[in-house]
Amino acid sequence: MSQDEPMTIATLGSHSALQILKGAKDEGFGTLLICEENRHSLYKRFRFIDEILTISHYDELLDSRCKQRLDNTKSIIIPHGTMIAYFTYRDIENISVPIFGNRKIFQWESDRNLKQKLMNASQLITPKLIQRKEDIDKLCIVKLHGAAGGRGYFLAWNKESFEENATSLLNQRRIRSEDDLFIQEYVIGVPTYLQFFYSPLNRQIEFLGADIRYESDIDSIGRIPAKQQLSISLQPSYNVIGNLPLVLRESLLEGVYVMGERFVKASEDLVPPGMIGPFCLEGVYDKEGIFTTFEFSARIVAGTNLYINGSPYSELIYDEPMSMGRRIAHEIRIAKEKGFLNQVFT
Ligand code: ADP
Repeated sequence: MSQDEPMTIATLGSHSALQILKGAKDEGFGTLLICEENRHSLYKRFRFIDEILTISHYDELLDSRCKQRLDNTKSIIIPHGTMIAYFTYRDIENISVPIFGNRKIFQWESDRNLKQKLMNASQLITPKLIQRKEDIDKLCIVKLHGAAGGRGYFLAWNKESFEENATSLLNQRRIRSEDDLFIQEYVIGVPTYLQFFYSPLNRQIEFLGADIRYESDIDSIGRIPAKQQLSISLQPSYNVIGNLPLVLRESLLEGVYVMGERFVKASEDLVPPGMIGPFCLEGVYDKEGIFTTFEFSARIVAGTNLYINGSPYSELIYDEPMSMGRRIAHEIRIAKEKGFLNQVFT
């Protein structure tokens, strides 16, 4: 693709699509949204979306009609959480349209074992993993495989409490066997999502924001007095409803950069060409200010939607409002101008 050929930024209609396409428009790109029929009425309200390609189901992203439109508009797809949750990593690896970022890393995000391997190689502190339900001897969080947005997660403190909840998931056919569950030590502290951008062009990491998720109904339990909590035997869920902004103590920032840089280095070694663009380290700050990472996302996270107008951290780096969505488009624009597009997509 030549430097002055027009290019389009495309994404799926969900997750952080508004932020991504607003940022693309601000950086001078054409914008294309591929969205399911039932979301069309939402997205058509926004003028920065040049074209909406309606599909009846996300699967159609892989069909020839979408491919043709993406090709004709010289589109580059920006992946986000919905895309990662919905498609298998194989589907994503096989999409024949350029994808911003390193498409190989999505397998490492969706496979718990690979995920742990990359976090270990990044020298991140991670929660202890409990291999067998018989070994549960403290508060644990039990998770389903894959990014489930916290749905179905439960707390267990011994074998019995594990079995009680696992049986309920089995009855609801949410899992096929207890092996579909993954047991992790519960880390007490402030759950924090650290939002980074890594530029392969200038080989620098930028910390662009932090957030807290607000989840139903775990975050509303504190509004119910203990006596009533006990009487209704509530089993909390962790379904993300939205995100709240968080500004970290300045003394934590150096550690944030170190973690981000180690992650970038390890992904370069294990998943070449490594991290390209946005990623998020997800964990808990304990009372000593130590961060235990329980997850990462190797793409834009929805918590960045908080900062469409820039964040307190982007403000320190850029003289104009720089959302994560815009930062992605900015990187593509610079890469295009300098003839390095092949460094930002795979
Ligand atoms: P998903 O990846 O499915 O979106 P998360 O891994 O972000 O879900 O976790 C959902 C919820 O569980 C969040 O509130 C998170 O803070 C909490 N959580 C996850 N792992 C731990 C842990 N090891 N200790 C404490 N809280 C945790």
